[in-house]
Amino acid sequence: MEKTEDIKYKLELIEKNIENHSKNKSKLVVVTKTQTIDKITEVYNCGYRDFGENKVQEFIEKYEYFKNKEINWHMIGHIQRNKVKYIIDKVYLIHSLDSIRLAEEINKRAKQIDKNVNVLIQLNISKEESKYGILLEELDEFLEKIKGFSNLNIKGLMTMAPYYSDPEETRIIFKKMHDTYTSLKNKEDVFENLKMEYLSMGMTNDYNIALEEGSNLIRVGRSIFGER
Ligand SMILES: *Cc1c(COP(=O)(O)O)cnc(C)c1O
Repeated sequence: MEKTEDIKYKLELIEKNIENHSKNKSKLVVVTKTQTIDKITEVYNCGYRDFGENKVQEFIEKYEYFKNKEINWHMIGHIQRNKVKYIIDKVYLIHSLDSIRLAEEINKRAKQIDKNVNVLIQLNISKEESKYGILLEELDEFLEKIKGFSNLNIKGLMTMAPYYSDPEETRIIFKKMHDTYTSLKNKEDVFENLKMEYLSMGMTNDYNIALEEGSNLIRVGRSIFGER
């Protein structure tokens, strides 16, 4: 069982790494999946307000528990379309937009509650079969198809790099992400619902490299809470 001091210390370490490795003002999303309410409360008491969950059910339970607190909940995992309606009014940023059909559903549900929902397009840069995400060569077509989705705010890109024992190997992936991010920034006047703000990449194993390559949103769990 980690003590408060441990969690606080680990958060401080990450902040130092952000300072030393990032070019931008980068923000930490604390990945709270599988963590208890007590541990999440500890992180909250350290001043953190951005939490990431990857499963709809678990997200909703935690959302309800912390309802009276001002927390930005980030959905970082794959979402089944039939679950969108449960999170649409609760989520601050969806990192895992990975298909047209999901985009349609989010847009539809957002419209119903008269809200604009912030999303990141998840890219599968390394083409891992096990990973969700749009392939780089499909991105233009994807953007074209969701162009008219007026209740979707496309705020940036997200990726998960493969696990390498040498994290240095992720650099090329993060470089490609940053290039893509920059090129989309130049297309903001072509796509009305596109406003690039976030490049979400970097987890426990590789966040320093992601920061060096231009990430401005890292998603970290195990470095804070220990192994799940
Ligand atoms: C679990 C998870 C993370 C955090 O991973 P750690 O290795 O615990 O830092 C980040 N992003 C996504 C999409 C995840 O599912």
